[in-house]
Amino acid sequence: MKILITGGAGFIGSHLVDKLLDEDHEVYVIDNLSTGSLENIRHNLENNHFHFVQEDICNYDVLYDLCSKCNLIFHLASSVGVKYIMDNPVKSLNSNILSSISIIKIAADLKKRIVVFSTSEIYGKNKSPELRENDDRIIGNSFRWSYSIGKAVAEYYCYAYGKEMDLDYVVIRCFNIVGPRQVGNYGMVLPRLVGQALRNEPMTVYDDGTQIRTFTHVSDLVNILCLIIENTETNKEIFNVGSSNSISIIDLANRIKAITNSLSEITFIPSREVFGSDFEDPKVRIPSADKILSIIGEYSFLDIDEIINNVVQYFIKTYNLEAKSIFEASLVSE
Ligand code: UDP
Repeated sequence: MKILITGGAGFIGSHLVDKLLDEDHEVYVIDNLSTGSLENIRHNLENNHFHFVQEDICNYDVLYDLCSKCNLIFHLASSVGVKYIMDNPVKSLNSNILSSISIIKIAADLKKRIVVFSTSEIYGKNKSPELRENDDRIIGNSFRWSYSIGKAVAEYYCYAYGKEMDLDYVVIRCFNIVGPRQVGNYGMVLPRLVGQALRNEPMTVYDDGTQIRTFTHVSDLVNILCLIIENTETNKEIFNVGSSNSISIIDLANRIKAITNSLSEITFIPSREVFGSDFEDPKVRIPSADKILSIIGEYSFLDIDEIINNVVQYFIKTYNLEAKSIFEASLVSE
């Protein structure tokens, strides 16, 4: 197949590119490299089956042209991370709402199948220990919820074009996807804590660390995406994708500290100091994977220790030199 991936130079997108090229698809990527990176896709640039366009998805003509070339679209391009969204409000709203509406309409007009990436943030403050796809969205008032609302708008557009123009769509709600190439700059807890532990810096646990999350390795996500690509039962459906193995953030910090043999102290910081006084942090977020498993059959997700080990190996390989040069630079300035 010819497949377009918006945001294909990002953390998840670039892993999807690798997997689809491995499976002999022809892959087109559009990415403005705002939070993505050329380093994530550099190894594919010489591949004849890979085509990279550095452009913003707000460029309608380029987007339309790419969509018309492909049979399937994965729409990942989006502003990511709570911190990035709070710091870049206009850019985030534009990419999460305007661009999504635009590509969903193009897919409907051109009669292309589209997989739209949504988020566990959709459920907001719903504390259910097993979030199901039709559960309530409980959203607060502050700007912090704009990401959740933007993704909900994209989901509604899928539904609307599905109903009126028979758009063939699948919505994937990702739950804390982690793995190599994810950077901690935009909030993501696991790469942040791994980086801090490896540098023996204080490990920043927000509030009391009793927040519960599940962590899913990006390789599991892309495996599942490949299993559903041509499955017609997924048409016009919404799926949670995430493992149900939950862990509190303080336990996560302790696991990372133990695995890296780190000298770091674990520090507790009020999240409102980091994100502002009206910030709200969902206390618990655990998916029910029943619906996706009913389509793909049994699936065994990597567990948290395997995930941490894999991210640690990636950090050691990728940032070794950088950590050393920061250390040397600080010696010089003294
Ligand atoms: N968190 C933390 N320390 C950090 C970054 C995040 O304790 O340095 C917490 C954050 O408050 C949240 C959880 O870790 O409760 C997961 O945060 P992340 O930004 O990775 O994803 P979210 O689930 O909030 O989308």
